[in-house]
Amino acid sequence: MCQGLHYGAAIFEGIRFYPTACGTSLFRLDDHMNRFFYSAGALGMILPFSRTEIMAGIAELIYKNAMHEGYIRPIAWYAEETLGVTPKKDARIDVAILVFPWQKGEKKALSIKVSPIMRIHPASTNVEAKLAGTYNNSQLALLDAQKGGYDDAILLDYNGNVAEASSSNIFVVTRDERICTPSRGTILSGITRDTALAIFKEEEIKAHEELFGESCLASAKEVFLCGTAIEIMPVVAVNGKQIGDGAPGEITQHISILYQNTVRGGFTQKWLAYI
Ligand code: PMP
Repeated sequence: MCQGLHYGAAIFEGIRFYPTACGTSLFRLDDHMNRFFYSAGALGMILPFSRTEIMAGIAELIYKNAMHEGYIRPIAWYAEETLGVTPKKDARIDVAILVFPWQKGEKKALSIKVSPIMRIHPASTNVEAKLAGTYNNSQLALLDAQKGGYDDAILLDYNGNVAEASSSNIFVVTRDERICTPSRGTILSGITRDTALAIFKEEEIKAHEELFGESCLASAKEVFLCGTAIEIMPVVAVNGKQIGDGAPGEITQHISILYQNTVRGGFTQKWLAYI
């Protein structure tokens, strides 16, 4: 009867932790906590634990499991036993935190399909919140893509612009060498996307947040996806057509190396939270 299960009334986060020279560190924990509480607010949830308590729970879980690298999934859900759709003001909210080792997928590069499923309209949900229910949109697109043998789907927004992948953001390097990622508005503007933009800036490489269409994606020199889970993931084919020379491009490889340095404390310390 759990309301969270019946109506997707849950919010969650995905956080990675890595070994660094100074010990185990959670990457951009503050930003993930900000989004966790933002998502809760978007669904009218009053979490029964403070930010400090949740962070302490995460640290304790990693420490007790003696882990140095892995993935953290905090989740909160409406726990009332009711078939009513409306969450009650004083409803019971349950919170769980899962930790598990991260197994890197076998794929070193992806083949993607532009999905016939549209990215949910920003007026229909809060696209910047990680609401469990919204993920049906991603699941439908992914199911369709996988049926055709593709690894992931790219969802277009309601204007036909490229929005994002099923659970990651996208960057393209256009034919004329312009690095672009879709601007905010219809996407979940991820923490990894923000990290990549910050690294580009630090490196004095121009990267633009702007809208672009499917044709720009199809004719791109390089494409990569980015997210907490997949980090920086090269895309080597779109709709069955090869991107560039069919191997991860120069800029993609460069940002991938810098991202790995960053999460392991080799680029800047500012985003690391040591346990
Ligand atoms: N878009 C969607 C739909 C996602 O689920 C995710 C994963 N959280 C992202 C983008 C990337 O976000 P982040 O870099 O914060 O993991």
